[in-house]
Amino acid sequence: MKKAIVVGGGVSGLAAAYLLREKARAKGMELEVQLLEKEERLGGKIWSIKADGYLCEWGPNGFLDNKPQTLELCKRLGADRQLLRSNDNARKRFIYSGGMLHQLPENGPSFLKSKLISWPGKLRLAMEPFASKAPMEVDETLAAFGRRRLGEEALRKLIAPMVSGIFAGDPETMSLKSCFPRIAELEAEYGSLIMAMIKMAKQKKKEKAAGKAVASAAGPGGVLTSFRDGIQTLTDILATALGSDAISSGQEVVRVSKATSSPYRVTTANGDLEADVVILATPAHAGSRMVQELDPYIAHVLGDIPYSSMTVVCFGYERRRIAHDLNGFGYLIPKEEKMNTLGTLWDSSIFESRAPQGRVLLRSMLGGACFPGYIKLSDMDITDRVRADLKTIMGIKDEPSFVRIFRHEQAIPQYTVGHGHRVEMLEEKLRQYPGLFLTGNSYRGIGLNDCVAAANRSADAAIRHLMR
Ligand SMILES: Cc1cc2nc3c(=O)[nH]c(=O)nc-3n(C[C@H](O)[C@H](O)[C@H](O)COP(=O)(O)OP(=O)(O)OC[C@H]3O[C@@H](n4cnc5c(N)ncnc54)[C@H](O)[C@@H]3O)c2cc1C
Repeated sequence: MKKAIVVGGGVSGLAAAYLLREKARAKGMELEVQLLEKEERLGGKIWSIKADGYLCEWGPNGFLDNKPQTLELCKRLGADRQLLRSNDNARKRFIYSGGMLHQLPENGPSFLKSKLISWPGKLRLAMEPFASKAPMEVDETLAAFGRRRLGEEALRKLIAPMVSGIFAGDPETMSLKSCFPRIAELEAEYGSLIMAMIKMAKQKKKEKAAGKAVASAAGPGGVLTSFRDGIQTLTDILATALGSDAISSGQEVVRVSKATSSPYRVTTANGDLEADVVILATPAHAGSRMVQELDPYIAHVLGDIPYSSMTVVCFGYERRRIAHDLNGFGYLIPKEEKMNTLGTLWDSSIFESRAPQGRVLLRSMLGGACFPGYIKLSDMDITDRVRADLKTIMGIKDEPSFVRIFRHEQAIPQYTVGHGHRVEMLEEKLRQYPGLFLTGNSYRGIGLNDCVAAANRSADAAIRHLMR
């Protein structure tokens, strides 16, 4: 019987292992799939922590339903009925600017009324269809793209907060093509983002008329979706479907090398395993260490993918102690506001059952690529900083009755300029190692949908390899 080893038990590894085994079965292929995870706990960045009646998401709080991958996987796992869509009021997103929260405009008239962008800034934005074309063959930063098409103010107040909200990244270093390939495509296709939005809004109108759920134009597109017990249900269900026999947790892989009796040897602290196929579904830096001896070049390129750190802070309060309206998703803060946090999500407004009756859960983010030193702050310092921001922005003077602080030293891979080239080089070089695959959030998208899509591609590639 052939054997496949998947390294890493986050959503990418679990999905890759499950899909690989399903696809092999569908082809009548005899294949043993084994997943090795360093930690005792599965899920990687996904961890829904229940404490004192609150449900705190350590990492992601959901996926967007505007891409099919995670929804289809849930369907396949028979878990689609357990899905929980975010509340309708969570479509309202805010930006903190000039001492107040501004709702992100959802259409032309609300954009004109909004005080978030000044009149000169609005005029500059309106000139977008006449902006200069994308420079040929240049991997443009998000900041350069923003300045070129939308102007400096829109870059600072719209693009930069979005980049920190999604990637905990710095727009001055991040690549447009790697972070938001669809936006680069829209520019190439329509010559203008405004023209593209007008055409897509017409399409959405048609879909709404046909009774389909449509996301707010101000959001990233799609409706945020999770489960009643948190997003960890996704990885729990994957792990159950794979079965405990196929999963070895507490097994750190230290090396992947060539073997004599089968193509690869996977070395863990407890010994060696041999495999025909190896899928590395760990962060790039971990993969880099594993293949150092096998191929120093691949190891070098993997090690070159930077990561930003992030601290997630959950505060619980009695609802009646908060005068501020909590009707929305939460807010992001442009760097120029010189606040401590990147933004705060009103988690108990987004999904039901995130806080006990009569209480609310707020989740603030600190750090990211623009504030790398924040990961070293003490719990007390972090708590004070979050409280200071909540007081300034939402007028919350009380101490929170519930506090949880989660630190991610290497939270999110940064698709900086040159990332697309690095990924191409990796793919090229991997051709020398048939049966060895890379998947996960380090290459072609960090969202859960991207991870599931990449896992599916790796499983397909592994099957093709095994059938040769
Ligand atoms: C704070 C935060 C909020 C986020 N919010 C969202 C969101 O709302 N929506 C969304 O779509 N995405 C979000 N993301 C991104 C998303 O969570 C990640 O991209 C995704 O979970 C990554 O999954 P993964 O399996 O690729 O990697 P990971 O979850 O990092 O899993 C990799 C696994 O590999 C294991 N591993 C590492 N080294 C070894 C080794 N040597 N041997 C064996 N195992 C090893 C690790 O222990 C880990 O379990 C967020 C991320 C963070 C950090």
